[in-house]
Amino acid sequence: KKVLVCAGTGCASSGARQIVDLLNQEISQQGLADQVEIVPTGCHGFCEQGPTLIIEPEQTLYTLVKPDDVPEIVKKEFAQDERVERLLYVDPLTGQHATTFATTQFFAKQNRIVLKNCGFIDPTKIEDYLSNEGYEGFKKALQQMTPEQVIEEVKAAGLRGRGGAGFPTGLKWSFCKDAAGDKKYVICNADEGDPGAFMDRGVLEGDPHSVIEGMLIGAYAIGADEGYVYCRAEYPLAIKNLGIAIKQAEESGYLGDNILGTKFNFHLKIREGAGAFVCGEETALMASIEGKRGMPRVRPPFPAQSGLWGKPTNINNVETWSNVPHILRHGAKWYAQNGTEKSKGTKIFALTGKVNNTGLVEVPMGMTLREIIFDIGGGIQNGKKFKAVQIGGPSGGCLPEEMLDLPVDYDTLTKAGAMVGSGGLVIMDETTCMVDIARFFLNFSQSESCGKCTPCREGNKRMWEILDRITRGEGKEEDLDTLEQLALTVKETSLCGLGQNAPNPVLATLKYFRAEFEAHIRDKK
Ligand code: SF4
Repeated sequence: KKVLVCAGTGCASSGARQIVDLLNQEISQQGLADQVEIVPTGCHGFCEQGPTLIIEPEQTLYTLVKPDDVPEIVKKEFAQDERVERLLYVDPLTGQHATTFATTQFFAKQNRIVLKNCGFIDPTKIEDYLSNEGYEGFKKALQQMTPEQVIEEVKAAGLRGRGGAGFPTGLKWSFCKDAAGDKKYVICNADEGDPGAFMDRGVLEGDPHSVIEGMLIGAYAIGADEGYVYCRAEYPLAIKNLGIAIKQAEESGYLGDNILGTKFNFHLKIREGAGAFVCGEETALMASIEGKRGMPRVRPPFPAQSGLWGKPTNINNVETWSNVPHILRHGAKWYAQNGTEKSKGTKIFALTGKVNNTGLVEVPMGMTLREIIFDIGGGIQNGKKFKAVQIGGPSGGCLPEEMLDLPVDYDTLTKAGAMVGSGGLVIMDETTCMVDIARFFLNFSQSESCGKCTPCREGNKRMWEILDRITRGEGKEEDLDTLEQLALTVKETSLCGLGQNAPNPVLATLKYFRAEFEAHIRDKK
């Protein structure tokens, strides 16, 4: 038997490491060490219920496990073959116990492709990855396909960038492949900075080899021999596990020179970001890798033509890269079964805020917000009413109840005034003040503005001042028009995505919750 203990950052913060130690102690004290293996894994996704553990092969899911529970779990599970009923998850909607991982509503409606290994393998062991089809996609690409065929396969799969903009990945690769130059780079953007977003952290902590494999496939297709993972320093466990994985891949011949006996060389390094949100912008990120201050620059030239150190460069984010091995292993047709006509595959969301089941969820593109929030998320905490969902972080927008039946895909959400973004979903209940929310996100964006261009540097500050005034009961009648005009100007004239999208939370809340702004101004509170 195996005990898979979630040791991702979420569960680690609620004491999972101590649970691992106690389980090991208890197992050896009860003389079960030759029958039971304790495996610290990456994130199971069910952060609200952490620490969580899954007993294999039955896949019994235990939630909210405390140190005192360990002796009882070991005694009943392994000595008497029973379950500790009180630690089984009770579904908030049905009031029923869910005994196994698969029957828990939170997991049952998900389709975990990218997160398939997260929570089920030891991310620090390459053998675990290899025994789960690891590096099979890369081997197939390298040994059986030309670079052009690999790009065509990724195009046919319909994969779009998971970092926010949703640009077709295969097409992006082809720009870099076709660019002139004998030195090319691939970069993984792991500078996940949206408040409430931790999808990339989950993948890097729980399945770092999948990102390496995706980058290897991309590098082979594009003709790059060097790559960087730019990861925020606030993710120490992700950096540690990725570092271990890179070393193992080098020792196993998947990274380095003459990989698998071919002429393909690829070297991968980690660069740590120092916490500037703007470094998630690709031109700022490259400047930061080069050792310069992380500030965006005007495009063109695009990174595909002139990127890192002036060489053609392709940047994708963590989730995009870790989708790629699955496409190569199982084919574009298999991959494109999930999703909508124009948004294929699955998407990972970080479900946070006033929802019962917070955590990481992976669903097919096109699932409605209602299904994600109520079926998987288990509805709103303490029986309160749903009010809004902030989707896409500080670049996205707040959507009201009427929009809950929208399918989550790139084009539908953009039309509604929000965006899939990188995948943060912050749920708000009836007690939330929407003007406060707009102020919160704008405060984030204005303090993260790099200050290079005036509309973003000044415009966002002035907008924040107006919102702050309104929330203090000092708003004026003309404020809403000024706010709207400023928002549209900042959006249209800012240099990079940070400034262009910073007004989105304001515009969306004005569109859907204008009455709350008016009430603040009218009632002077
Ligand atoms: Fe900097 Fe904002 Fe201009 Fe982007 S839009 S370059 S973050 S000032």
